[in-house]
Amino acid sequence: MQISKRKGYLDLKRRIADCINANYGKYLVATRDQPLTDADVRLWKFSGEKLHLVDACEDIRKKAAGDQDMSDESQKDPDLELNSGVEFPGETLEPFISTSQTLEDDTLESSVVVVEVRDNLNQGFAFKYLKNQRIYIGKCEFCTQKKILKVECACKRVRYCTPECLDKDKRWH
Ligand SMILES: [Zn+2]
Ligand SMILES: [Zn+2]
Repeated sequence: MQISKRKGYLDLKRRIADCINANYGKYLVATRDQPLTDADVRLWKFSGEKLHLVDACEDIRKKAAGDQDMSDESQKDPDLELNSGVEFPGETLEPFISTSQTLEDDTLESSVVVVEVRDNLNQGFAFKYLKNQRIYIGKCEFCTQKKILKVECACKRVRYCTPECLDKDKRWH
């Protein structure tokens, strides 16, 4: 599958869904009667060691087999989709879907994107997921580059792209 770097995250999801429909459509018929759409695809940015992902998948398998009741935890936060309760070893890319960020704007080049596909509408997704997460895009207070601002200063008035930039700007804040 190929996609231009100038495309956005929603384009990427649609492309993935189309690609799965075209190649695996006949296997999907068993679990659903509609083709996949972007809503059936969730994107994760994987960081760390491959083994962590293998472990996480093993945890999901165990939880599914154990059929535990986790309703307590999901009731606390309406935005929390508990699913298997297993955290993805990385971060969600979903907050980018509704932004105008293109694939080249972020630092995706050196990272692995994991695609989670919901093949059965009744079962939902597997990894624990927090809906409505916000990302901040703007000028970093220290390096002044337009980036994703991952950290907020304690004063709550400014944001930085990284903890390093926050640190370098400390004497002003
Ligand atoms: Zn910065
Ligand atoms: Zn500050």
